[in-house]
Amino acid sequence: MAKYIFVTGGVTSSLGKGIIAASLAKLLQARGLRVTIQKFDPYINVDPGTLNPYEHGECFVTEDGAETDLDLGHYERFLSIFTSQANNVTTGRIYQTVINKEREGAYLGKTVQVIPHITDEIKRRMLLLGQGNNYDIIITEIGGTVGDIESLPFVEAVRQLQWEMPEEDCMVVHLTLIPYLRAAKELKTKPTQHSVKLLSQEGVHPDVIVCRTEEPLSMEIRRKIALFCNVKQEAVIEAADAPTIYEVPLTMMRERLDLICLKKFNITQYHEPDLSKWKEFLDKLKYPKSKVTIGLIGKYIELQDAYKSILESFVHAGAMNECKVQVVNVHSEFITDENVSEKLSGLDGLLVAPGFGHRGVEGKIIAVKYARHNNLPFFGICLGMQMAVIEFARDVLGLKDAHSTEMNPATPDPVIDLMEGQKLVTAKGGTMRLGAYPCEIRPGTLAHQIYGTTQISERHRHRWEFNNAYLERFEQAGMIASGKNPESSLVEIVELKNHPFFIGVQYHPELKSTVENPQPVFVHFIQAAKEFAERRNALKSPVLQGEMI
Ligand code: GLN
Repeated sequence: MAKYIFVTGGVTSSLGKGIIAASLAKLLQARGLRVTIQKFDPYINVDPGTLNPYEHGECFVTEDGAETDLDLGHYERFLSIFTSQANNVTTGRIYQTVINKEREGAYLGKTVQVIPHITDEIKRRMLLLGQGNNYDIIITEIGGTVGDIESLPFVEAVRQLQWEMPEEDCMVVHLTLIPYLRAAKELKTKPTQHSVKLLSQEGVHPDVIVCRTEEPLSMEIRRKIALFCNVKQEAVIEAADAPTIYEVPLTMMRERLDLICLKKFNITQYHEPDLSKWKEFLDKLKYPKSKVTIGLIGKYIELQDAYKSILESFVHAGAMNECKVQVVNVHSEFITDENVSEKLSGLDGLLVAPGFGHRGVEGKIIAVKYARHNNLPFFGICLGMQMAVIEFARDVLGLKDAHSTEMNPATPDPVIDLMEGQKLVTAKGGTMRLGAYPCEIRPGTLAHQIYGTTQISERHRHRWEFNNAYLERFEQAGMIASGKNPESSLVEIVELKNHPFFIGVQYHPELKSTVENPQPVFVHFIQAAKEFAERRNALKSPVLQGEMI
């Protein structure tokens, strides 16, 4: 029988519920328990697949092809587990299920209502992962902030579950903000008291209060929060700002958050947390031996969450290489032939990001050309790979108007074309080529060297693909397809023969990078960037210059 932890948020959004939930899960996992996390989001979109990245950041894709909230990325990166469609549920999906059932006549003429029909469907989905005895503990993060109209049905579902379950099977962790008033030099507990009151009015009382704070919580403040929010003093947890999100499991361990949960659940079978790999990673992250500067060429760079998984993959790959990765955001819309070398000359590597639509693509193509001509390590992901193909077609094959039919449906040379299976698709949301597909790697290539195997599987999210009618010409000119889908021959990886490190992948490798298993393309890309930086520094060094004279 699984036990359930519900994580709610109060006072404001963006307190980092996902990180706290993932950190707690990591600690419980490190103590030998089987843990998973799910997220319930109160918005009406059926899933975040149709959301512009400016709204909620990147869309995280799971193995089974679900388009989900980016917090699932944190869960996977922290826990090294795969999540699935079942781990992310929105209000839209709940209502869609209930309305479909109503149309089928499943409610036998009854009036369909928020309580009990919507809340029953929420509860059914909250308990879903607990069936089948795969987990000891299921953590459920409730999106939004307590008091929002739209999160009410979720809180009500938690209230009912708490009432239905034995007391030691269910608990609520409430994450809140303790603001520091600089003028008064004081931490203030009132907003927390109010948010706990709101939650209590909705019938749910927290067992633990996790306090986000910029200043340490004194014993006195902890006592005050405990007294006025009616929790045990040891259940008031300090979550101070951390230099990296990967530090948070350790701070939560110091605050004994995991032990408080285990005690409430009457779980006695656990061991000391094994965090050796995690700590090793943190050490390397904190004390790098070298540094590289990577240009991230994208069009959503104003919002860092739009490239969350890519940025985190750099953190993992950097630590693996004991190298600090400084990411410089370069807006693709403003790159021109005239300013490209000024914008990119200080870089040790270039990553051209995924994306959709016309805006900013010419800048991406110019950036690829710069990397190809200057032997700068290049890594293109999805749209980034497609732009590398277009650049090669234009500059090397002489197909001046080559393009993707996504941006120019009338191009005479559609080197990137809509996939056959996509041609009749009109509906948006869940209709791209999504999730994990196998890829076969050609022996002796850079891709082979990177992965060390010829059979891999990576995740996807796209509608366009390399047009195989052009493949022979590309290969003869030096851009080869080093990875293909074994069934459809869809080109998954392209690389250049005469370049120290130039790789474009149709899939999204960033979705599978975790703290304990950094993604190999990222690891090798950073290594190549390190070598590039070393070569450059050597050229600059006076001794070498002297030798050259
Ligand atoms: N827009 C491109 C396609 O659909 C690339 C998608 C992406 O970068 N995720 O094929």
